[in-house]
Amino acid sequence: MEFKNKVKVITRNVKYIRFEVKNFQIRLILPPSHLHKVSEILETKRGWLKKQLNLIESIKEKTKKIKTEPKTGYKTLVNQFIEKYCKKIKKYPKTISYKTMKNCWGLCSSTGIIKFNEKIKYLTKDLIEYIVCHEVCHLKIHNHSKDFRNLLNKLYGQEKAKKARSELRLYEYLLLKA
Ligand SMILES: [Zn+2]
Repeated sequence: MEFKNKVKVITRNVKYIRFEVKNFQIRLILPPSHLHKVSEILETKRGWLKKQLNLIESIKEKTKKIKTEPKTGYKTLVNQFIEKYCKKIKKYPKTISYKTMKNCWGLCSSTGIIKFNEKIKYLTKDLIEYIVCHEVCHLKIHNHSKDFRNLLNKLYGQEKAKKARSELRLYEYLLLKA
């Protein structure tokens, strides 16, 4: 298999070479000085790349089958979940707002401002709950460290969170749309 045209190569002043899988695309991020090594790098990652490409294909297939009806009451739903989880951690956001974004479902600033992607209205109730819970956890822990994961798992449930994360991938294509 030829990987060169299936992997987007991005040069950036990074210290380490890394791969990213986002929005149905595999990206190789590397410093400009390593550009001549692309073929070599892709070759060593052959097995992994093949697996990722298959995964992307299967997600694309599943994506075609999901229904995306916008929910009218999604903000009420968000407020309910905010209340539910903030009560548990005893921290509340300063403000909540909605915006159309292309790369994430939600954001939480270090000052406690939470922004949700307007597109969450297309998600299921469980996924909206997961995203709210995730951002609420950021009110306490601002990174994605192990502590953060533990808190999220504790609040939302480990198995449920795992399921939500994989389900969420089916909706990623919505992020790309305007
Ligand atoms: Zn996060």
